[in-house]
Amino acid sequence: MIAETVPFLDLMTPHRQLEEELLEVVRRAIRSASFIGGFAVTEFEESFARCCGTRYCIGVGSGTDALRFAIIAAGIGSCDTVVTVPNTFIATTEAISQAGASPEFVDIDESTYNMDPEKLRIFLEEQCVEQGSGNLISRRSGKRIAGIIPVHLYGQMADMDPILELAEKYRLVVIEDACQAHGAKYFSRKHNKWFNAGSMGRSAAFSFYPGKNLGACGEAGAVVTNDEEVMAATRILRDHGQSQKYYHDVEGYNGRLDAIQAGMLAVKLEYLEQWNASRRRAAQHYNELFASYGTEVVLPSEKTWSKAVHHLYVIRTCDRDGVRAALKGEGIDTGIHYPVPLHQQRPYLHLGYRNEELPIATLVATQILSLPMFPSLRPAQQELVVSTISKVASPVPG
Ligand SMILES: *Cc1c(COP(=O)(O)O)cnc(C)c1O
Repeated sequence: MIAETVPFLDLMTPHRQLEEELLEVVRRAIRSASFIGGFAVTEFEESFARCCGTRYCIGVGSGTDALRFAIIAAGIGSCDTVVTVPNTFIATTEAISQAGASPEFVDIDESTYNMDPEKLRIFLEEQCVEQGSGNLISRRSGKRIAGIIPVHLYGQMADMDPILELAEKYRLVVIEDACQAHGAKYFSRKHNKWFNAGSMGRSAAFSFYPGKNLGACGEAGAVVTNDEEVMAATRILRDHGQSQKYYHDVEGYNGRLDAIQAGMLAVKLEYLEQWNASRRRAAQHYNELFASYGTEVVLPSEKTWSKAVHHLYVIRTCDRDGVRAALKGEGIDTGIHYPVPLHQQRPYLHLGYRNEELPIATLVATQILSLPMFPSLRPAQQELVVSTISKVASPVPG
């Protein structure tokens, strides 16, 4: 018998299962020669808006497009800064810069790895000054704070209530980076009800990169919003700034969702809930296995106000690289999301952040390890993962 190996992500199984349905999408597109726009795109947009509980969904070319368009459509541009976290994929800050603004960082919470609302409050109240005009100016950059981008990283919700409250107080736009959080939910203590990821800010960005919880068979993304102006501006931005063919209101982008990807996404959207349920079951099973082995690693923490969709299952351990190597030795693939926090990456060194200003993001980057996580992950594979870790992991102090 061949020893069991465990991939980090299994993208083959769902595509084998859906092969006929997906091929039918391609056949329909070819037979109608309908590749850009049209029914397939509007149909998916309507379904995905319904799934997010928002009035509008605008399909775009990628999650990065979605972020960039959402920022520009909110009226943020040069002279502005947008506050986000250093523990995210670089697309979050690329989009800020590409919109003409610049990013500023606040640290993350040690248990959710998402924006720490208390750090945000301290930043806004102690590191910014209010100008006569009512604008909040960052002492660090001398620029106006215009928006906040909380990231629902790993499919875990950022704590939105206090973030939205601060945003309201200082009249800042909130754009959710929901690129890893399709279907995640947040319980607002303020409104005493559950909200879908992407339905709480002025708008939200989703990525349908193939490895995401809902992935296209290529590049795709979407902006969702309840705001009619943001919807209209995003539609124009994705299509060369034209509201009517060859009549351009602004310079825009080539950033449309194409018909084949929209059709593929419509097929897969039917399975999102069941795939997310499988991820949640797998996460629960990891938790139980770690408990039964008594392995002293830090597990993902799910708050009572969060229903995570576990895009990634991330643990923390002191000798992360040793654990990773031991897993590799058993044929188990892992990932690190992300090995270098953004304030340490070359494009942002000029911002001059010191590690001591962002201690949690700096520390956890050396300890985090993403274990295999995908809907078809089997309990026996998880057992192998956890038993291997239990042999080598040493506890995180404190
Ligand atoms: C994937 C991702 C993006 C970018 O999406 P693309 O579709 O790859 O452009 C942005 N932010 C986060 C947090 C992501 O995980």
